[in-house]
Amino acid sequence: MTRDSNSRPQGDPRTTDRIEIITIGDELLLGFTVDTNAAYAARRLADIGIVVARRTTVGDDLTGIETAVRAALDRTGAVLTSGGLGPTSDDMSKPAVARVFGRELQLDEEQLRRIEERWRKRFGGPLPATNRAQAFMPVGAEKLQNNHGSAPGVWLQDDAGRWVAMLPGVPREMRGMLDDTLIPRLRATSTGRVVRSRTLRTTGVPESALAELVRAMQPGLELPLAYLPSAEGVDLRLTSRELQSHQADALLEAQARRLTDALGAAIYDDGANSGQSDLAALVLDACRHRGLTLAVAESCTGGLLGARLTAIPGSSDVVLGGVIAYANAVKTDVLGVDLAALERDGAVSESVVLGMAAGARRVTRADVGVAITGIAGPTGGTADKPVGTVWIATDVQGRTASRRLNLIGDRDEIRVRAAQSALALVRASLPG
Ligand code: ATP
Ligand code: MG
Repeated sequence: MTRDSNSRPQGDPRTTDRIEIITIGDELLLGFTVDTNAAYAARRLADIGIVVARRTTVGDDLTGIETAVRAALDRTGAVLTSGGLGPTSDDMSKPAVARVFGRELQLDEEQLRRIEERWRKRFGGPLPATNRAQAFMPVGAEKLQNNHGSAPGVWLQDDAGRWVAMLPGVPREMRGMLDDTLIPRLRATSTGRVVRSRTLRTTGVPESALAELVRAMQPGLELPLAYLPSAEGVDLRLTSRELQSHQADALLEAQARRLTDALGAAIYDDGANSGQSDLAALVLDACRHRGLTLAVAESCTGGLLGARLTAIPGSSDVVLGGVIAYANAVKTDVLGVDLAALERDGAVSESVVLGMAAGARRVTRADVGVAITGIAGPTGGTADKPVGTVWIATDVQGRTASRRLNLIGDRDEIRVRAAQSALALVRASLPG
């Protein structure tokens, strides 16, 4: 017998705290479609305290789906599939899962009427034979209502309370069904624990050095910490998996504060709001707050720093402009860099970067000048100035600061790192 969403399935599903996700489709394996369904489902499940223990992707293949579902069910007893529910011959989720549970497929009259009705309204005429396949359900299955498409989801459960929920592959339908039907149902059986994270952003300190500082913390952190490096810095993500909502929030707050104390100036976003702050936006705020205007002088970054700053809405009250001083002649003729210093020290040097920062201020009359000159590669490096050698400088109303950086990565990464480091230097150089 087929049941609808209103009636309870046989036996309540046991408490679910671990689940496996199986996404189905040749297009996922081929890389033509990025598997956004699994990522979405994982985030929504984390919200209600359910841990995704494993993700698997299989093709549109009956045996492949059957094998994957059986193995996942043996491990966790709780499986979510996406895709392969449609009417076409490559849609094999229902027959595959029916086999795992040892059930037959049978025609669901009510579902058939619903599909015929829908078809008549949208396209007119009789329902094509292939679409009848959508009306077949495994014996004992429960339909999960689909408010966003024609194919209903399917919930199948055995006497031991082990279950598989089959959702459609179309992302909009999958999300709708997850949010409208499945999450409320799972929440009712969950333990009330939440999986909650907080992300702190750092820049200027390598991952390994951050790890050393964290290791030295006394007492140690109570929550696991993930290191997420990118060209702009290392994000640190604290995650609580075991606690109820308000306890998780309190512990994340306390642990974030301890990390901020231990890592100090390396942290530019403590995660209290989004944990997604852009350092350029923070620099603009800091300048605005102090009534300071800013200008840039860029060599190897070719305008990247200016672009980062002006990408922020409202930047015009702080940013006056800048000079892309790529050629030496522009450094000397426009920015007023001392020709003798340039010939003596080279274009990538402290004297030149300080001259550029001062020049940016002079030509724009800004309060703050920030300058970058370096070797982004892949060519142009020498023994004492290898690729990745970058000088950055700030000139804040005549008070200067400069740093030599030895950056790693390809040309793009070096340019991104240089711009980010320059922003960090501005932030550190502003008066308190
Ligand atoms: P339909 O009734 O449309 O056939 P279905 O449940 O059979 O639905 P699929 O055929 O597997 O779903 O996929 C339908 C669409 O959704 C395709 O365009 C596919 O690329 C996309 N899709 C499938 N799985 C995913 C996924 N995991 N992440 C993102 N998109 C997906
Ligand atoms: Mg399909």
